[in-house]
Amino acid sequence: MQLFRCHWKIKLEEPQIHEVVQTLYTFGAGRHLIRWLYRALITLTKLSLSPLREKWEDELTRSLHDKEWEKVLARPHKISRGARLKLVQFFILHRAYLTPQKINSYYPGSNAACPRCALPDADFQHMIWGCPALHVYWTSITTLLATLTGYTDLHSWGAITLGAFDRPKQRKLTTRFIDLAFILALKLVTGTWKAKNAPHYKHWCRELINWATAEHALLLLDESRGLRKTPLAAGWDALLLQFQSCIKDDNLPP
Ligand SMILES: [Zn+2]
Repeated sequence: MQLFRCHWKIKLEEPQIHEVVQTLYTFGAGRHLIRWLYRALITLTKLSLSPLREKWEDELTRSLHDKEWEKVLARPHKISRGARLKLVQFFILHRAYLTPQKINSYYPGSNAACPRCALPDADFQHMIWGCPALHVYWTSITTLLATLTGYTDLHSWGAITLGAFDRPKQRKLTTRFIDLAFILALKLVTGTWKAKNAPHYKHWCRELINWATAEHALLLLDESRGLRKTPLAAGWDALLLQFQSCIKDDNLPP
């Protein structure tokens, strides 16, 4: 029964699960069964990500071609060197955050409303992007990044979550800076999930300066060790200085 439940939840391929169940009857309990099950379970890695892809495509209102989807799947590994930021992107990609709506589906007595605006059935997209309480936060961030980079297509659900904006190869450093900026913005939103107030964009500015400064130090280290064919540290530092000059009139938190 557990295996059937597992099959129902994670949508394993039919032949594989039948093979497991058939073997359960054939071998009976015992160490052979345990060994076989262990081997079988660790090879059952071909979980279908089609429902996840379809969900994203629905929200983006367009198809994600195969190469684009591959890049989306690789994004958690490439977004940053920081394990914490990789994990945030992984949770975003797999929509793994426990929203009020999701918790309510597990525990029907719980409150499914958004803690910020009280919208009933607050889903994933609402909690991260659509909530009116987050409007100023996201507008401030995308406007500032547009001023900094000249990109005008950053204010969208696809851009902030999957990096779906125009990414010319000759501006890799700029897109890398934007990716870092968005993942830090998402970290602040998901880190204050249950709070009544939205995070302030000044906290995001502080986070971005701290992380971008650390990234600059790592780029310098890479270059001193000869690990990079193309030097990036100088360009990154220029972007960081430009960002700091954009916000110089704001009093940032320490
Ligand atoms: Zn809300």
